Amino acid sequence: MTDRLPGFNTLAIHAGAAPDAATGARATPIYQTTSFVFDDVDHAASLFGLQAFGNIYTRITNPTNAVLEERIAALEGGTAALAVASGHAAEFLTMHALMQPGDEFIAANKLYGGSINQFNHSYKNFGWSVVWADTDDPASFEAAITPRTKAIFCESIANPGGVVTDIAALGQIAKRHNIPLVVDNTMATPYLIRPFEHGADIVVHSATKFLGGHGNSIGGLIVDGGTFQWAGDARYPMMSQPRPEYAGMVLAETFGNFGFAIACRVLGLRDLGPSLSPFNAFLILNGIETLPLRMQRHSDNAQKVATFLSTHPAVEWVSYPGLPSDKYHALAQRYTPHGAGAVFTFGLKGGYEAGVKLVSSLDLFSHLANIGDTRSLIIHPASTTHRQLTDAQKTVAGAGPEVVRLSIGLEDPADLIEDLDRALRG
Ligand SMILES: *Cc1c(COP(=O)(O)O)cnc(C)c1O
Repeated sequence: MTDRLPGFNTLAIHAGAAPDAATGARATPIYQTTSFVFDDVDHAASLFGLQAFGNIYTRITNPTNAVLEERIAALEGGTAALAVASGHAAEFLTMHALMQPGDEFIAANKLYGGSINQFNHSYKNFGWSVVWADTDDPASFEAAITPRTKAIFCESIANPGGVVTDIAALGQIAKRHNIPLVVDNTMATPYLIRPFEHGADIVVHSATKFLGGHGNSIGGLIVDGGTFQWAGDARYPMMSQPRPEYAGMVLAETFGNFGFAIACRVLGLRDLGPSLSPFNAFLILNGIETLPLRMQRHSDNAQKVATFLSTHPAVEWVSYPGLPSDKYHALAQRYTPHGAGAVFTFGLKGGYEAGVKLVSSLDLFSHLANIGDTRSLIIHPASTTHRQLTDAQKTVAGAGPEVVRLSIGLEDPADLIEDLDRALRG
């Protein structure tokens, strides 16, 4: 072996995994157990005191989940990671480690709808306030910073598709003000974009989508970039202040450049509890083994379908950054040269009625609220996820009455195009 670092394809298959020490099993076993036997009383004491690494109870650590954690940390280029029950749990535990009651964070206004709800409503119960900034205008983030700002949050490629964020511009602002930049990398995955290379400090994922990739498991991941200096920074007491339950240990001092991941685990997972089932970790690991192949095919297929739709007589507009005419094409070429991802929106000339008719007339596309499946998916936001909004609110959210969102799967693109063409001509 040389000192050369393994490439992305190799890491997607091998990072974190080795043949099982007890049995020789080559695939990562599902350690479907709640708890782990201590060697003796001293061993138990050192585990509970965080003086030794090891397993106690699957709410906090599990060997199957640990392989998934090491793998995503390697693929993103972070120092450590944490597997949790869902993408929303990843966002929540991240904010739980960063925020105190009365604190604020700034979020890009083009986000997954569930994140918008979580930030606007549920976070109020913890005394955390979201301040919205314009994804397309980095200066609007800087203008919103106050002494209580504890984080900046954005997506790399933003839902409902078609928006590429200038992560480096936000990273520079975050650094200037010494605030961590949190990037939700669900839509891009590290195959398309590695946010740490552009100035992110923390990456979160809904592993439910492209990482798992087969539409069968809910899961989430938090990756620590190891870049932010928490030690000595009183604004971030979870990392920088002595923990009474760990004999006064300061997590940022004891664990250095993975102190944030440790805080999410030994404070967040321990006390709030959204742990990932080892069975789901196993399925997500299997998905990640083929991530490079799938993401390339997803993007290639999406490029073909978007190109087809862009000249279709029933289609008013297509918002896909892979199209040369697109507003985000230059950012896509800079941030995601392998392809612009699988998810995008387009507008129908026939408006709301045409959207409802289209989702009911397709054979291959499934009408449902998800993205990142092997199967192609479609949703008409105005009649489903965004139906409670007024028409004006829908338009601001990128979910006007004429808008349809596609998540392009791994089928033959000619079959997808034929299905869409038939339904659109219907
Ligand atoms: C789905 C999604 C989430 C939420 O993840 P869950 O696994 O559904 O909890 C967060 N961010 C983005 C970009 C998503 O697509």
